[in-house]
Order: sequence, then C-alpha cells, then structure tokens
Amino acid sequence: MTEFLSSPIAYLKGVGPQRASWLSKEWEIHRIQDLLQLYPYRHIDRTQIISIKDCREEGSFVQIKGILRRLEQLGEGSKKRLVGVLRDETGSIDLIWFTGISYLYKQFVIGQEYIIYGKLQSFRDQFSISHPEMEPLLTENQALPSSFYPMYSGTEKSSKVGIDNRFLRKVIKGIIERLYSDSLPEVLPYHIIKNHNLISSLHAFEWIHFPKNQNELDAARARLKFEELFFLQLSLLQLKFNRRETVIGYNFTKIGDYFNTFYHQMLAFELTDAQKRVLKEIRRDLATGKQMNRLLQGDVGSGKTVVGFMTMLMALDNGFQALLMAPTEILAQQHYAGLSIYGEQLGIQVAFLTGSVKGKKRNEILAGLENGDISIVIGTHALLEDPVRFKNLGLAITDEQHRFGVEQRSKLWHKSKPYPPHVLVMTATPIPRTLAMTVYGDLDISVIDTLPPGRKPIQTVHKNENHRLWLIGFMKEQIKAGRQIYVVYPLIEESEKMDLNNLMEGFESLSREFPNPHFGISMVHGKMKPADKEWEMQQFVKGNNQIMVATTVIEVGVNVPNASVMIIENTERFGLSQLHQLRGRVGRGADQSFCILMSSFKLSTDSRERINTLVRTNNGFDIAEADLRLRGPGNLDGKQQSGTIQLKLADLSKDGPILEVAREEALAILNIDPTLSQIEHKGLKYTLNQTKEALRGWGRIS
Ligand code: ADP
Ligand code: MG
Repeated sequence: MTEFLSSPIAYLKGVGPQRASWLSKEWEIHRIQDLLQLYPYRHIDRTQIISIKDCREEGSFVQIKGILRRLEQLGEGSKKRLVGVLRDETGSIDLIWFTGISYLYKQFVIGQEYIIYGKLQSFRDQFSISHPEMEPLLTENQALPSSFYPMYSGTEKSSKVGIDNRFLRKVIKGIIERLYSDSLPEVLPYHIIKNHNLISSLHAFEWIHFPKNQNELDAARARLKFEELFFLQLSLLQLKFNRRETVIGYNFTKIGDYFNTFYHQMLAFELTDAQKRVLKEIRRDLATGKQMNRLLQGDVGSGKTVVGFMTMLMALDNGFQALLMAPTEILAQQHYAGLSIYGEQLGIQVAFLTGSVKGKKRNEILAGLENGDISIVIGTHALLEDPVRFKNLGLAITDEQHRFGVEQRSKLWHKSKPYPPHVLVMTATPIPRTLAMTVYGDLDISVIDTLPPGRKPIQTVHKNENHRLWLIGFMKEQIKAGRQIYVVYPLIEESEKMDLNNLMEGFESLSREFPNPHFGISMVHGKMKPADKEWEMQQFVKGNNQIMVATTVIEVGVNVPNASVMIIENTERFGLSQLHQLRGRVGRGADQSFCILMSSFKLSTDSRERINTLVRTNNGFDIAEADLRLRGPGNLDGKQQSGTIQLKLADLSKDGPILEVAREEALAILNIDPTLSQIEHKGLKYTLNQTKEALRGWGRIS
C-alpha cells in the first residue's frame, strides 16, 4: 500500500479537521485507506430517466428530466423552505429544500430544463423530492450522468457535520484520481490475478465506487471479495503453520496393549470407515513431536465418544494421563458411567471430578492425579482449577465445547510440563465448511461424516394444538411398545419465570394423562439442585420412568438408546441447530424413532422455514448450511464464541466457493514460503500484517 493510503484522512483535500475527527470517532475511519474501503451499500442506475407519472414507489431513487416551473421561498424562521415545481410531459412534482435556501434560490433558473435526482417521498398522495441533485441541461445533446451512482450509508447525524453522499462521493473520487497518478501497487501475486481472472487493484477500487455498468461493479466485487478472504485465510493459516513449527508436543510413538486390547477384544461393534479415518488422522498428529490441535466434528450419534476414548488409550499406552471435559455435570456423569466400565475391564483407574465432588473423595482424586495412579479423569470445567495437578497429562479432550477462552486455554496448557497436552475438541454442532475454514481456520479438522450402520432415520413431523389428542394417543402407543419419551420446553433467561411455568403446567397435564403408578415422569430443569437432577435423570435412564419432561439441559450428549420419541414444545422458539441437537437424543437404538415439533398456528416465515428444514432433512451439515443462510454467519454458535470477524464485502453464507479458492491459493504460497520472506512476497507480507492488526483479539481455540 502506498504511503498516501496510510496517511490520516485529515490530509485529504476537502475533509478538514472537524470532519476528520468525526469520521475517526464515529465510524473508525482514520486513514485514507479506510475511507477508500468505505464501500457503497448500493448503486443507483443513473442511466435511466423516468417520467413523472411513473414515480410511484415511495423511497425509491429516481432521475427525472423536466423544466423548473415555479420556485418560491415559503414559511418563516425554522419553517422556512424553498419549494420548486418540476414538470415534464406527463406531470409535475414538488422539489423542497430546507437549508441553503437563499443561495439555491439565486442559483436555479425558472424555465430552465434540469436533470434531477433524489428520493421519492409522498405526502397526501402528492410526490415530492427533498434536496434533489440538480443538473441544468444546457445543450440538447448533453450526455446523461452516464454511470452507476454509489450510495453510502450516511445518517442524519453524519449529514449534520457535512458527511453525506455528495461529500463521500467527492472525496473518494479524489482518492481514486490520486491513486491513478501515483500508480497503486498490486497486492496480489500476478499468477493469482491471472488464474482467477481478477481485475487489478486499481480498477477494483475505482469500479466498486464508480462503475459505469453492472459488469464493472461485479468484477470489482469479485476481486475485492477474493482479496479479503485471501488475506484472512493467509493470516489464519500462518498462525497454524507457526504453531506447528513452534509448539513442541509429546511424541506418542507407539500403539500398545490398552489400545489393542480394547480394539480387538472389547469393542462390541465395527468402527465406521469415518471413525477409522479420524483415528488415523489423530494417530498421525500424535507422533509428529508437535502439539496436536484438532477439532473433531461429527453429527449427533456419529460415535465421537469411542474415538475420543481410543485416543485416550493411545496416551495411556505411551505412559501419559488423559482428561475428558464436558460442559455439564449430567454429560460428564454419562461419559463416566460408560467409560469407567471399559476402564475397569482394562484395569485402568478412571475418576470423576466436578464441583460437586467434595471432601475426602475429592482429596483422594487430587492425590491420585498427582501421583499418577489415576490415568483418566472425566469432569467439567472444575478440572481446570488450580488444585487439579497431574503427574503427566498428555491429552485433553473436550466434548461439545467449541472453544476455550484464552484464559482457559492457558490454564489447560499449564496442566502439563514441559509441553502442553495434545488437544482434541469434539463438537456435534456441525459448522458449514466455509465457516469452519474461517472460524477454525487455524485448527486441523476431522469429520465423522457417516452414522453407524443400522440406524433408522428419525421421522420428523410438525403438529399444532389441534393435534394434542392425537399426540397423547401416540405417546400411549409408544409407551405400550416399551419406548421412552422426551418432552422438551424452551427456557431462556429473559422469560425464565414464564418458561418454568409452562414446563410445570406441561408436567401437570401429562401427570393427569399418565398417572402413577402405571406411568412415571421425570422432570429436569436447570434450576434444580444437581443431586435432584441426577436422581430424576437416573429414573429415566434406568427405565423406571417412561417420560422425561425437561428444558434444554438435555440438549447435549445424553444417551438413552431406548428413548425413541422426542417431543418439542414451542418449537418456534428454538434455534435450528439447537433443534437438531435435541432431535439427536433419539434415534440411538434399533427402533424407529420420532421427533414431533409442536408449535402455534401462526408462524413467522423464518420459523416456518426452520421447521420445514428439520422435517425435510436429518443431515446436520445441511441444517447448518440452512442455519447460516437464515441467520447469517454472525449468529452461529461457533462464531459467537470466537469473536467477530468483520468482513467488509464477503458473505460467508454465500461466498463459500470464493473462500475455498482463496484458501487454496494462500496454502500454496505458505507451503513454499511459510514466513513470506521471499522478495516477491514482500507486498503480501505488508498487507498481511495490516490484516492481522484488524484481526487482533481473535481468540484461538486452544
Ligand atoms: P456422539 O457422536 O453424538 O457423541 P456417541 O459417541 O454418543 O455419539 O455414540 C452414539 C451411540 O452409537 C453410542 O451408543 C455408541 O456406543 C454407538 N456407536 C458408536 N460407534 C458405533 C459404531 N461404529 N457402530 C455401532 N454403534 C456405534
Ligand atoms: Mg457425544
């Protein structure tokens, strides 16, 4: 980038100190480059002239050719205004100005033909335009302002300090003229420009602001989006490369008895190809001598736990300890219940540690971890607390947890010396590929993309209050057939009281339909004491109770294969990926499973589409794509926890293909020159450093 572009905007002619400080304070526009990158939010086709009789759509921008018929100053004091009437062959329209009245009054000529441009307003069926742009038509063949006009998102506040469309157009035009005379250097390597048919940097900047037609605008957007995503990927990938180079990890050289015994003698099912592939990827990471940082994505029920457990066995086979951290007590319990059985058979000590483990028991566990008697510990965030010390922690797995915050990450890393433990993060919230490349761009990613065989796809239906009787009948039928049922209510903090009431009412009315002693109903919600929750859960897990009424506390991880019906109340209040998670609680056994989405009659378009998506597909990745489309990338879970990436032009929900190409090109360059120190990459490095500045505060996963 040129020196010119990095200088403060106050240096620009026509900006001045007052506007410069306003722009800097309000819009974070400090340097000339920032102003250049203030892209128009849309363009207006100024090649078209419209007749006055066709001016119909309030709020639309129109260009009209006509003769100024009247012009008078009306009103007094603050009500003072200048009103004109413009007429063409088809009708007339009012033009109104509230400022600069006496100057403009002298400026305009009655009887003169003008091309005017502005936003249509309507007042009592009469159209008018305030502060139109006026251009006198002096000769018969005078060219129209033959271009697309950029519109910038000025506000009333900004126009008070003189920062409006007209001003922005003028200064940005000035910047671009200057770039032409300075000859702006190209930041992308020539082969990339050529291979992807991109236009030059200079043209891109000119045409994103001042295209002559749609084609120029499209070409400019394509180039600048590419550039934006390219530098984003370059910086993320470089982070990853750096870590791979610099962060030494334990070298797990062998596969030993624990792993082999489990795999060959204990495992009751054949691993899916996807599970085998992922285990190979992990195995390879662990034997490089560098620290592993891998994200394992897999739809609910795809069998991540066993992969995680086998990874722990690799650590144990090499003489290390392993931990598994879950986001909730219930989920940690569930993992412990399953894995401690394996542990017993293998002769491994597996411990359970959460905030609720106290006193003597807790001290025993802490001692066992420190002297190495305990090989595997399963728990919640409590595992990160200072008193939890290990003899030699070689592996940390987190389940259903997207990212560690910076602080947690550092705590985890310090649990092991001299090197940080290998890290495996398992998540059941599938993230679309494009988003994963960005949010987790600095991580290695493994995907389990198939479900274990023999699962019958869950049947999902959408019902409303009219079907309540049918629903009760259906539940009775299923219970008679030996199945168990979840009934889930939304609970969000803002309406917690009301939500809890709903849950209680639901529980009571179900208790009437399914009375003791023939039936049993568990109730679980986040406001209960852990011990009560646990007891209620266990009644359901053991099969003593047939129905479990719950809030979303059961969202993550609970595994009761005999539960084959998921009923969701007020479905419209849940997010799409959350619904998918909930549905994933069923369909785990051999029986046909059902998911029944109850909602009110009236639904917003978005809610309807969310529900239809669930009815249509069981595929978590399809659902994640739909979620991205419906909500935009800013709201996805993974993103929320990762800080925001401010993209100026690119849209992750639409520009996946560009992102992929940009990533490949970035990768190709880093493979040859990871530090970008070759002379031909000097420009890249410079721009990259600036991108990184913009990405500061970007939390990394572990
Ligand atoms: P998730 O990926 O949602 O954590 P789990 O690890 O809880 O899924 O696995 C879901 C169920 O599938 C468990 O009961 C598990 O024992 C079983 N399972 C895992 N892998 C296989 C497989 N390859 N074949 C058959 N069942 C499997
Ligand atoms: Mg799981």
